[in-house]
Amino acid sequence: MTGYDTNLISIDLHSHTTASDGTLDPIELCNRALERNVNVLAITDHDTVAAHHFLQKHWQNDDLQLISGIELSTTWSGAEIHIVGLNFPLDHPDLPMVINAQGESRRQRSHHIAERLARRLPDWEADAIFEQVLDIAIAKQRCSEHGFELTPDDIQIGRPHFARWLINQDYVNNMDSAFRKYLDNSKIGNLKAFWPRMSQAVAWIRVLGGTAVLAHPGKYRMTATKLRALIKDFKLAGGHAMEVQGSNHPQSQIDQIARYCQDFELLASQGSDFHTPDYPWVDIGRLPPKLPNGLEPVWSQWLGG
Ligand code: AMP
Ligand code: MN
Ligand code: MN
Ligand code: MN
Repeated sequence: MTGYDTNLISIDLHSHTTASDGTLDPIELCNRALERNVNVLAITDHDTVAAHHFLQKHWQNDDLQLISGIELSTTWSGAEIHIVGLNFPLDHPDLPMVINAQGESRRQRSHHIAERLARRLPDWEADAIFEQVLDIAIAKQRCSEHGFELTPDDIQIGRPHFARWLINQDYVNNMDSAFRKYLDNSKIGNLKAFWPRMSQAVAWIRVLGGTAVLAHPGKYRMTATKLRALIKDFKLAGGHAMEVQGSNHPQSQIDQIARYCQDFELLASQGSDFHTPDYPWVDIGRLPPKLPNGLEPVWSQWLGG
């Protein structure tokens, strides 16, 4: 698409719906984006494009350009790394293979989490926990007034759904303590073992004809040396871009990532990582108005200039 003055438009390339761990259904998310004057939106649910397939059938609004997207969980050098894929054809013949592979990893991992929890909570069998967590995800979708509902096989459940279950069962009071007490990587065992390597995910996105983006590089709690090694390997694997800014990122972090973006000749992306209106400091389109100087935006390839 051309004809946009990209200085005047609001672009958010990272967001979630009830297809993964967001709390808005796809149409609610788009409506919120419009209300908040977002013009270009990528929905990037964890390991699924179900929201996009739904919107293709049930939604159209010329004021909001949707970019296809997905956020893949991967592993690199002992760390869990998220790779966002953008702007690939939703009917690509290899897309189901990627989603099935990630879905299978996620399901095995969810059974593993259920087993680990059952060991700590003697009243519970792992299978019962798993079924109840799946029910939570399904029940959340049934609330959708727009009829967005996936089958149990298509829903991507993850730790936020387990957190909700722990809250419902009164083991904890809120999401944060659910993660702190039960669900952080150190608590639940080696979850990374279930994911493909980062280089595999980058290769998949390239096969799909998409743009591979290193998601939220400031969030991995790495030393600067390790972060540079990660970005170097991402570039070597064929990665195209990196998220330079999101909602609520400190300026010093944005400046650091912007420098790395230039050093490794990556395109710059931005996205709020919106999940829910309950956290207003991470809202859709809540981003600095401009990318740091000297960076080439990832969207210049799609929107013209
Ligand atoms: P998973 O995809 O199962 O690995 O779950 C990771 C997701 O959990 C992230 O994408 C966040 O949305 C969410 N998350 C991670 N840490 C926390 C936390 N401390 N509190 C609430 N949500 C969290
Ligand atoms: Mn999430
Ligand atoms: Mn992420
Ligand atoms: Mn995300």
